[in-house]
Amino acid sequence: MNPRALLAGGGIGGLTAALALRRAGFEVRVLERAPALQAVGAGLTVQPNAVLALRTLDARLADAVVAAGHVPPALRVLDPAGRPISKVDATALYREVGAPGVALHRARLHELLLQALGSGHVETGAEVAGFELRGDRVAVRLSNGAELDADVVVGADGLRSTLRGQLLHDGPPRYAGYTSWRGVAEGLDGLDTTETWGPGCRFGVVPIGARRVYWFATANAPAGETESAVDTPARLDRLFGRWHAPIPELLAATPDGAILRTDIADRPPARVWGQGRFTLLGDAAHPMTPNLGQGACQAIEDAVVLGRCLAAREGGLEAALRRYEGLRQPRSAAVTVAARRLGALGQLENALLRGLRDTLLRAAPQSAQERQVARLWRFA
Ligand SMILES: Cc1cc2nc3c(=O)[nH]c(=O)nc-3n(C[C@H](O)[C@H](O)[C@H](O)COP(=O)(O)OP(=O)(O)OC[C@H]3O[C@@H](n4cnc5c(N)ncnc54)[C@H](O)[C@@H]3O)c2cc1C
Repeated sequence: MNPRALLAGGGIGGLTAALALRRAGFEVRVLERAPALQAVGAGLTVQPNAVLALRTLDARLADAVVAAGHVPPALRVLDPAGRPISKVDATALYREVGAPGVALHRARLHELLLQALGSGHVETGAEVAGFELRGDRVAVRLSNGAELDADVVVGADGLRSTLRGQLLHDGPPRYAGYTSWRGVAEGLDGLDTTETWGPGCRFGVVPIGARRVYWFATANAPAGETESAVDTPARLDRLFGRWHAPIPELLAATPDGAILRTDIADRPPARVWGQGRFTLLGDAAHPMTPNLGQGACQAIEDAVVLGRCLAAREGGLEAALRRYEGLRQPRSAAVTVAARRLGALGQLENALLRGLRDTLLRAAPQSAQERQVARLWRFA
């Protein structure tokens, strides 16, 4: 009989892990709290490291993900007047690392992962409340009182993971000091992928194909601040309305009420991700700020490495989980720390410091930045 795995959370991490574990010979069941799997979120970049990881699982899936969005030829950082600060020649780096990166709608990525997994593996309305180690089994308790058990349990229940809380008791995530807004504008062609840095705020323009453009904005703000959906367009207009084209046009082309607001948070890297036949994956294991566009990409890498370790099963399932954690912890920790630093640099408010930052970045050789990006974009 095949071993059985339960995965808490049907996000990008949980679904990719379900695919990887099935490939490793497990019967998989994903427990998702949401009452239904619906199209949520805005855009997302799946960078070459995640495309390479997906390829090792299912080459057709990786191709479909790339075909579902826009492959940006270059990534540029600008100032609010539209003057260049830095540039990365992405096309050359795709050749070097062996795969392209792609920007697409998050819901489309989710849909492709679900299709690849096939029907009957995801149970919605199933909120996981806790786990219990019982020798060679792990029991999972649902909030409706039901109990399930499996050979392996993976906590992929996101930033505010209940299962991580039970394992590590490390409290809520830490607020990064800035909030974000995200939207998708329709009917726009020919735009470049850019990120613009202003005083304590940034704006990203990310074409995702089919004349759609995902945009994100950030601003320094108190934690937990709220605003009504009616006030959001005016706030964004105050912050970004006089920035270079096409930023005001993108905001104008976004339907009111379709803008998502999320406070940005992460956690300092943890050394422990699991116990017995239980482990964590994705944001539950290593939530990071989105400044490098790597949170979901790292979750995909986790899933592939977890699948490899469980397929090999050297020393048994428990040893395989500890091997997965040992392989993934250093890489995800480095990305988490680098993302937080980049965010702090991008969110500077002080005019003097910003001027110094921009001057240094303009003077830095493009090749030096490309070396750093190439390191991030590799996966073997
Ligand atoms: C503004 C912003 C922009 C971003 N841009 C990018 C990007 O461009 N590229 C990139 O790679 N990453 C990006 N990220 C990060 C990315 O969104 C996350 O890292 C990624 O979604 C993590 O996937 P996950 O499956 O671990 O968690 P999630 O996507 O959070 O999925 C967790 C799932 O678990 C479910 N769940 C929660 N609790 C329970 C429970 N108790 N029981 C059962 N189910 C539960 C949730 O409903 C959810 O479906 C961005 C993040 C933000 C905030």
